[in-house]
Amino acid sequence: MRPLGMDIISLFHAMGGIVAFSTLIANGFTRTQINRAVATGQIFRVRRGVYAHPSAPSEALTAARHGGMLTCVSVLRARGVWVLPEPGPPHVWLGGNGREFHHPDCTCVTHWSPGRARIGSVGLETALLHLRKCSGDLAFFASFESAWAKRLLSTSARSRIRDRLPVSKRWLVDKATGNAGSGLESVLRFLLMQVGLSLETQVNINTVGRVDFIIRLRGKLLILEVDGREFHTSRGAFNEDRRRQAAASNLGIETLNFSYDQILHQWPEVLASIRAAMTRTADAA
Ligand SMILES: [Zn+2]
Ligand SMILES: [Zn+2]
Repeated sequence: MRPLGMDIISLFHAMGGIVAFSTLIANGFTRTQINRAVATGQIFRVRRGVYAHPSAPSEALTAARHGGMLTCVSVLRARGVWVLPEPGPPHVWLGGNGREFHHPDCTCVTHWSPGRARIGSVGLETALLHLRKCSGDLAFFASFESAWAKRLLSTSARSRIRDRLPVSKRWLVDKATGNAGSGLESVLRFLLMQVGLSLETQVNINTVGRVDFIIRLRGKLLILEVDGREFHTSRGAFNEDRRRQAAASNLGIETLNFSYDQILHQWPEVLASIRAAMTRTADAA
């Protein structure tokens, strides 16, 4: 017979560190064995009916204390997917009619989407769908493209997500691409798409070099440069940006500079500025 400790710990490791009492019983452990593992400090009680190994991830533990599963931005961030919302408290799914538990220092964002929540973390597909309900279409689109670009969404996964979206939202999957270079690129493409403009990325312009974003209008170009968040500008990069801008100007190509925050929080002004520049570009044609 193998020592009990090894078996119970193996089960906790296999299940991500948090296991329900009912699962322990279903796997052949008795109440006495579970109590002994708690008494010897191998596992601890999270709340009634839920136990954890000391190595369990802290956000998933918080979700279990709250009564549900980790979801939405919390799962996506943990999987390395780009997310639009700034880091914050854990997002916890309780299922359609789960029970919310009160626990110390609770700042959890609770999700009540239909379904039955168990323990641990939801899968990537469910996390993306919960994100759309929580943070909207733009946040969903950007994280969907990021997960796809990271090869975390197979063709069948993408089609399952599409099926689970309301019919009026399926275009979000249809318009997405699998080669977005950054979250910012997805955000820009989404916003421009809303007004019928398309974005080209990583375009090489003779004498200028490679630029991050361009909008093309009847054969004329408009360059978009964006600073902030994921584009950390060193002194060298700054000088290179200015050199490219001068070279583009020599070709009669206008460069517009925005910050990441402007794009997210002052989009109407940014769009007006893009439109004015496009009008100038068209007039000069
Ligand atoms: Zn909580
Ligand atoms: Zn959420």
